[in-house]
Amino acid sequence: MNEAKYIWMDGEFIPWSEAKVHVLTHTLHYGNGVFEGTRAYQTENGLAIFRLEDHTKRLLNSAKILKIDVPFSQNELEKAQIELLRKNDFKGNVYIRPLIFLGYGKMGLYHIGAPVHVSIAAWEWGAYLGEEGLEKGIRVKISSIVRNPVKSTFGKAKAVANYLNSQMAKYEAIECGYEEALMLDDDGFVAEGSGECFFIVRDGVLITPPNDNSLESITQATILELAKERDIPIERRRITRDEVYISDEAFFTGTAAEVTPVREVDGRVIGNGKRGEITKELQDAYFDVVYGRDKGYKHYLTYI
Ligand code: PMP
Repeated sequence: MNEAKYIWMDGEFIPWSEAKVHVLTHTLHYGNGVFEGTRAYQTENGLAIFRLEDHTKRLLNSAKILKIDVPFSQNELEKAQIELLRKNDFKGNVYIRPLIFLGYGKMGLYHIGAPVHVSIAAWEWGAYLGEEGLEKGIRVKISSIVRNPVKSTFGKAKAVANYLNSQMAKYEAIECGYEEALMLDDDGFVAEGSGECFFIVRDGVLITPPNDNSLESITQATILELAKERDIPIERRRITRDEVYISDEAFFTGTAAEVTPVREVDGRVIGNGKRGEITKELQDAYFDVVYGRDKGYKHYLTYI
């Protein structure tokens, strides 16, 4: 772990090593907590957080869905993230992890009344699926584990509990010798990766499923915006497993994963087995945006 100097906890900056919780922390037992994953990049004008407002809004929406009353406003949480990055004086790119959790003081499943805590950690973190993966692409396994069904879980919330499903899929994929899992929904259509949204390209058309069974991804929305600007035709519709096998290109998107090409799925080579042309175009465009080189997207950056 790339330790930083400070973590923000309930309104205060405390040393990294002192950001601790009690073993009877409610969220640790029952899984009711929400979090975010946000990145900040070193631009020519210094460190800039990508889409800070959108991530902070999603964090608060996640809490709303799970009936957690957050004792901080969106503005306060945004300021805390900015101040945290300043105080930690990072030299590289940063990953920010805000977490809203229920703490010590109440047990049992009726969670109302449990104390609500907010922490924000940030550390320097490189490419989530490997630097090499960004260029060469990764090998993916379609998971035997079905994505959390909408009938019984809350997929619009970036909820701690949702990630048990993701972890088991990721574990299975890695143990089987792959780098990432692609999960299907309970109807058998592509839902998302364990922590990413999924795109394919067929005959020049960019296709990604609607967010019925995936998080409302900020990176996916950015990629769709960039594709539209470049007149790349877009379809938002369900994708079947066999359609993935015969796609020309495929890639994952996520704050952590950025834009990671997929070169193989279940032993089927995707396209020519290399990063596809449209994938590269959108990946380059994405990095131009987050690094502040594309002046048309300055409004997505918060400079520290
Ligand atoms: N799906 C899941 C399950 C995720 O954890 C993430 C990462 N937050 C995504 C999709 C991508 O979302 P975003 O682009 O907003 O990071």
